[in-house]
Amino acid sequence: MSQSPATRVVTAGRPARDADAPLNEPVTFASTFHAGGDVGYGRYGNATWTALESALGGLEGGRALAYASGLAASDAVMSLLPEGAVVVAPDCAYLGVLDLLRERAAQGRLTLRQLPVTDADGIAAAARGASMVWLESPTNPNLDVADIAAAATAARAAGALTVVDNTFATPLLQRPLELGADIVVHSVTKLLAGHSDVVLGAVVTADDALHDRLDAHRRLHGAIPGPMEAYLAVRGLRTLSVRLERAQANATELASRLRAHRSVNVVRHPGWGTMCSIEVAGGAAGADAVVAAVRLWVHSTSLGGVESSLERRRRWPTESTAVDESLLRLSVGIEDVEDLWADLAGALDTI
Ligand SMILES: *Cc1c(COP(=O)(O)O)cnc(C)c1O
Repeated sequence: MSQSPATRVVTAGRPARDADAPLNEPVTFASTFHAGGDVGYGRYGNATWTALESALGGLEGGRALAYASGLAASDAVMSLLPEGAVVVAPDCAYLGVLDLLRERAAQGRLTLRQLPVTDADGIAAAARGASMVWLESPTNPNLDVADIAAAATAARAAGALTVVDNTFATPLLQRPLELGADIVVHSVTKLLAGHSDVVLGAVVTADDALHDRLDAHRRLHGAIPGPMEAYLAVRGLRTLSVRLERAQANATELASRLRAHRSVNVVRHPGWGTMCSIEVAGGAAGADAVVAAVRLWVHSTSLGGVESSLERRRRWPTESTAVDESLLRLSVGIEDVEDLWADLAGALDTI
């Protein structure tokens, strides 16, 4: 009987049930291993990474590789591109990933075709002649949703790989490999680890040849995770299902209340997930007043922790101009929704 994902986040990646074996894979601090085995050296493998990789790979329906960060994972996927490749990418998505693509474009190593992730026909047309279609869904921070299956079908017909950054959805809400994507990228830093204490990334693919190329690249380029980070990520993953359930319920309730608040012009919420972005009255100054006034919500970048946090995304110089100056990205946590609302509504009332 195949277990549900809510069970597998608890059961996956554990040591065998041998007498006196620990229930959890321990942290293996080792650079050096006795010769003659499969690992050999700390840049090639580590049992604590393997616990995370087997759990995440199983949830996404492929084989996972863990990296030092979400951006290291994204950079590794871009290393699959031939020089001069055409890449279809969102016009607005996580700024670090777009900065990486733009850096390669500025070096003359690739040509970018950028368009909204919601433009399925445009993406299908742009895929012709491309090597890779890079999607993020829902997008950071506008929370636009892509038709992954349609893009993957068009990309496959054009001979292009489809990559999906699944950070905002997690495999509990969306499994891109089942929708036809070739590669999934995660910032494990966010919801998967879930406690704002780890920077970590992962790539998942069901294609063995792609897995082997990525594994060889990680061995050589060395963007490996630390074992302590991998341990914390597995520990966080165990509660992903209940954290998501609570945070999603909070986000849905807050989105509906925010729609009725007089200081809120736009609410961006796909109807699922733990993120909600709002555009507020008074432009950048109005948004800055809100972050200065909150006491329970944390003013910080990053997202996906148990604590609710917010930030005005355009405070970052390379954030897309498709993001409104007044946009506040809300990462909804697992606190009591009435406390969250009281603090946020009070801060919005100051505009
Ligand atoms: C944060 C983030 C990244 C980058 O991950 P890091 O772990 O910070 O390197 C990539 N994609 C999305 C959607 C993100 O939110």
